[in-house]
Amino acid sequence: MSLLGRLNPFSKRNADVPSWSTQNIPPLQFHNTLSGQLETFEALNGNVKMYNCGPTVYDRQHIGNLRPYVFADILRRTLNAWGHSVTQVINITDVGHLVSNADEGEDKMEKSAKAQGRSAQEIAAEITQLWFEDLDLLGIDRSKIQFPRATQFIGEQIALVQSLEQKGYAYTIKDGVYFDTSRFSGYGKLGGVNIAGQQAGARVEENEEKKSQFDFALWKLSKKKEKRQQEWNSPWGTGFPGWHIECTAMIFKLLGRQIDIHTGGIDHIPVHHNNEIAQAEASTGKQYVRYWMHNEFITIEGKKISKSLGNTIYLSQLIDRGLSARALRYLYLTTHYRSLTNFTWEAAEAAHTALHRLKRSFFELDLIPGTTADKNFVEGVQAALADDLDTPKVIALMWDLLKNPDVPPAVKRASLLIVDRVLGLGLTEEAKRKDITVQAGAVSMTLSTGGPVSVEVTKLMEEREAARESKDFKKADALREAIELHGYALEDTPAGPKLTEK
Ligand code: AMP
Ligand code: ZN
Repeated sequence: MSLLGRLNPFSKRNADVPSWSTQNIPPLQFHNTLSGQLETFEALNGNVKMYNCGPTVYDRQHIGNLRPYVFADILRRTLNAWGHSVTQVINITDVGHLVSNADEGEDKMEKSAKAQGRSAQEIAAEITQLWFEDLDLLGIDRSKIQFPRATQFIGEQIALVQSLEQKGYAYTIKDGVYFDTSRFSGYGKLGGVNIAGQQAGARVEENEEKKSQFDFALWKLSKKKEKRQQEWNSPWGTGFPGWHIECTAMIFKLLGRQIDIHTGGIDHIPVHHNNEIAQAEASTGKQYVRYWMHNEFITIEGKKISKSLGNTIYLSQLIDRGLSARALRYLYLTTHYRSLTNFTWEAAEAAHTALHRLKRSFFELDLIPGTTADKNFVEGVQAALADDLDTPKVIALMWDLLKNPDVPPAVKRASLLIVDRVLGLGLTEEAKRKDITVQAGAVSMTLSTGGPVSVEVTKLMEEREAARESKDFKKADALREAIELHGYALEDTPAGPKLTEK
């Protein structure tokens, strides 16, 4: 094959990844937080409309925060594999999310801006970019997703608050406009929030003007002493939107007044999502979301990962330790999205090793064009995914398949590729890259075996070259170790560094 042919990642030989037929595919069953039960998924119209609550971009997203996006990605890929087209939106919260996660305290963006002596917009742009890089590394295809920012939809949010006010669902007090939950009979229906019990045991409300502790801000008025950077004129005075209104306003604008799926972490159930339901359904008089789906937390030593506990770990730290980003994805997928998962470095390293072994085994399998996947395996995978996205089961089935002596290697290969369209562990992309000489900036990497070079290793190689150029040999040595942890031997040759799989 010519050099050009080898450099073309879309060369015909590797381009066609097989897909399965959606005939006789089992119906998808999802756990709906609204009913607390498994329900058969049916799309409202042909196209599935899905919204995932996104990051508040005052600070970097940690490995707990990243779980919801991998979960949403698996969900989208599964829907696609069942023949549905999906319109997916993930919002970016760049205003209005207060430190209390309720209506009191500073705006997280303003607080961060003050602490860093920078503009809120600059911080939002930087954190969003870091988050995007993490999504790319985790194998989430951003080109398929819309990412609206709350500050771009201020007009829509004001209009929605006005319509709630006109319908009698809102009242104005000294510090802003509030939603009157007593007017909305189904308040608290998501996740069975026990209003009566909570009212009885409620602590003294900080804002005594509120009619009920459950009423929530739709629009907050700026306080002079706050000296806010982000504020807008409104019919009620200068201020900023409450945290919950952005999601509903953006959903109405980008997806419509009724959507199929809405997701987020479980912490959003009691307040944020119940408030979204109240304001949306009060406004339209019809069901807002048909399927609410929530992921459990990632913990460390049994504690929720959070900045305030000081136990945050970022994806970049895994990469610095020589682990691949896809290993984190693999780790997430080895537990069900509704199970609490405790992160340990041992588990991350084990996930990295397992994924490396999976890829190695995959590349040892023969490629015979036109080979179809193993029927039993595919049916097993479909049944597992249809059962509320049982990814741990799918991974177990992949390993069983590799060990099965009765399945020919080419069939194993075709089967794994099909499943990777949903799991996104990187087999698909790397299958396309097989036999490619990778040109990474000034670094030319040739794998003696013609195997894949992952994005992480490419990055580490580039960093090592930069370190060597600036004569930082200590750093270059550390980077060599990180590269070798990925399973490569590294040799510096006159033609450039050369990687060999160990
Ligand atoms: P935030 O940027 O705080 O709004 O969070 C972004 C997303 O991460 C939300 O869907 C949260 O529910 C979710 N989340 C926050 N902490 C964790 C955690 N430790 N594990 C899993 N999900 C989390
Ligand atoms: Zn939201």
